[in-house]
Amino acid sequence: MQEVTIKREENIVLKEDVSLFLNPKFVFLPIESGYKVKVGDHDYVYKNDILAQNADGKAVYAPTSGKVLGIKKMNYFKRGTRNSLVIENDFKENVRVKKSAKKHINAHTKEEFVKILQKSSYEYRDLDLIEWCKKGTENIIVNSVDLDPNFCNKHCTWRENEENILETCDFLSEIMGAKKIHFVLLNTDSETIEKLTNLIGTYPNIELKLVSNAYPNGMGALQRKLLKLEDALVLELECVLDVFQILKRELPITSRLITVTGPAVTPNAVIRVKLGTLLSEVFVHNFDFTSPKVDVYVNGFLYGEKVDNLKYVIDSNIDGIYIKEREECEEESCLNCGQCSRVCPEGLNPKYVFDHEGKVDATYYDKCLQCGLCNYVCPANRNLKQRMKGRDES
Ligand code: SF4
Ligand code: SF4
Repeated sequence: MQEVTIKREENIVLKEDVSLFLNPKFVFLPIESGYKVKVGDHDYVYKNDILAQNADGKAVYAPTSGKVLGIKKMNYFKRGTRNSLVIENDFKENVRVKKSAKKHINAHTKEEFVKILQKSSYEYRDLDLIEWCKKGTENIIVNSVDLDPNFCNKHCTWRENEENILETCDFLSEIMGAKKIHFVLLNTDSETIEKLTNLIGTYPNIELKLVSNAYPNGMGALQRKLLKLEDALVLELECVLDVFQILKRELPITSRLITVTGPAVTPNAVIRVKLGTLLSEVFVHNFDFTSPKVDVYVNGFLYGEKVDNLKYVIDSNIDGIYIKEREECEEESCLNCGQCSRVCPEGLNPKYVFDHEGKVDATYYDKCLQCGLCNYVCPANRNLKQRMKGRDES
């Protein structure tokens, strides 16, 4: 496999500090089937109140205080349309009981930790952290490499929370019986390497693992392969910080970092937003397009997907948006250059799939990471990544 390094675009300068947008006018909370709504229209809710709950006790919490405005169908990235409870923010952040923060997070037993996690109803994509706690693991990979070279969520997460992250890693290794925590960094990130090397002296279980600055080495699934740790638990850095916050206050997670970047947006920034906020509201209050015709990609130009609008509710599936000037480019005939298969990290042949639609075994599609590298290198502008999604979706 030929490695491809994709550098951050030179005209993109990310603001150094994390911006905040924690006061949206409305928040939207998806109500999945099996959940019973516990509030009625026009009810007043406090921040962290339970709004809905299922038979297993999993809860939907209010990320802000305000008034319930009923149920509305809303769009979620990769999850389609969902009935969602609407809360009109009163901008007071009222809570019923003020909780003090724990001094140390590592005094909890495994059972206590599982209970706290269950109560928080923490969700991060398809990660089942409680299941991992119960079965344990020998190795934990902590992914601190941003997948998209223009995104900076992990870098900012690390920079603002170094000690807390290491303390949480240490705690998790103890709880899960892990022999090693493999902290993955880019071998070009000399500043973080130096800092981490100085800090991990007191944490014998934490080991630094460097990967080359090639795309898509920021993908957790690929890191398992690169480190030859196929059975390891992969934790995104943001997830480690979430666990810290949950343990510190025993409250649900109500915000996350996203990056807004690209040559057709100003400013370029990492911004902390409330979960349940509409992406369009974040944009309108904080950013501008620099061109009348733009293409918008949720989760980046390579790995992400082009979207028609910003009417998506922010949840843990959204890491950011990348915006560039619209380019009209048509798919052309294959030049048989072989680049797409040469760069594929899974050794696949996307050109073959493109040319033999309907004749490829379904299991072949499952191997695709949807990293988008084949699209990036294809001189004929072929949307190979889309074809690799599978026959039903193409
Ligand atoms: S999108 Fe799929 S086929 Fe294309 S390079 Fe990535 S893993 Fe390979
Ligand atoms: S990269 Fe594009 S042009 Fe080259 S072989 Fe693959 S599909 Fe054909």
